[in-house]
Amino acid sequence: MKLLENKVALVTGASRGIGQAIAIKFAEHGASVAFTYLSSEEKAKALEEKLAGLGVKAKGYKCDAADYKATEQLAADVIKEFGTIDICVNNAGISRDNLLLRLTSEQWDDVMHANLKSVYNLTKQVIRPMMKSRSGSIINLSSIVGVKGNGGQSAYAASKAGIIGFTKSIAQEIGSRNIRCNAIAPGFIETDMTHFLQDSGAEKWFEKIPLGRIGKPEDVANAALFLASDMSTYISGQVLNVCGGMAT
Ligand code: NAP
Repeated sequence: MKLLENKVALVTGASRGIGQAIAIKFAEHGASVAFTYLSSEEKAKALEEKLAGLGVKAKGYKCDAADYKATEQLAADVIKEFGTIDICVNNAGISRDNLLLRLTSEQWDDVMHANLKSVYNLTKQVIRPMMKSRSGSIINLSSIVGVKGNGGQSAYAASKAGIIGFTKSIAQEIGSRNIRCNAIAPGFIETDMTHFLQDSGAEKWFEKIPLGRIGKPEDVANAALFLASDMSTYISGQVLNVCGGMAT
């Protein structure tokens, strides 16, 4: 059964990793997919072709999610091309991990802009078309680190905790318009972002995961599919931990 037929989804940061898995999962379930990337031009082109091969309308847009004006233009372009936006996945993000004593002001600002301001930017753009159609699902990628904290990741954790506060507030603000807003908090997922962790002392991380394995991007994509679809029409303002049991 296809869960997203006749829906238009916008996924930020889909050239790699979790965003790419979400874009593919949504397309497999019949959604038209607009997605963004920052610099991975070739990977974006390849994804566009893969999604089209799944029989849906798909287009990649180069857009810095941290840039308000650029996201304003993006939303206008997507609506012109696709007609509306039913689902928005705020996935684009970066990590700049460092102990606080070494964490620079620039690193702090980079993380806050790419991870948190981006979520404000895109959510602000998509709620108008969603209000017009009196329905919508916004899904924000937080992190288990935003729920629990983690030494050496204060900026990243703060940005991801900020996403949770934002998600819960927006859910209250726009719930009456039948627009839902939820967050996903992944644990340790195998992507470019975590490669350096996997190389250095992965065993110490695995010990903390009750399910005994690192997560796959598809594990997160399945959760996103649930929150995007009508399977979750009475769920809003929640944080879904996809972490192999790490947060229990
Ligand atoms: P990733 O493999 O590093 O991919 C990041 C994606 O975001 C890329 O497509 C990148 O585009 C894009 N991006 C980065 N900054 C952007 C910006 N300013 N504007 C637009 N696109 C931007 O990361 P990932 O592991 O898939 O993570 C995806 C999300 O899940 C992030 O929000 C991350 O914090 C969160 N998360 C990941 C994990 C994990 O273990 N991997 C755990 C918890 C939460 P380019 O390819 O063009 O650079």
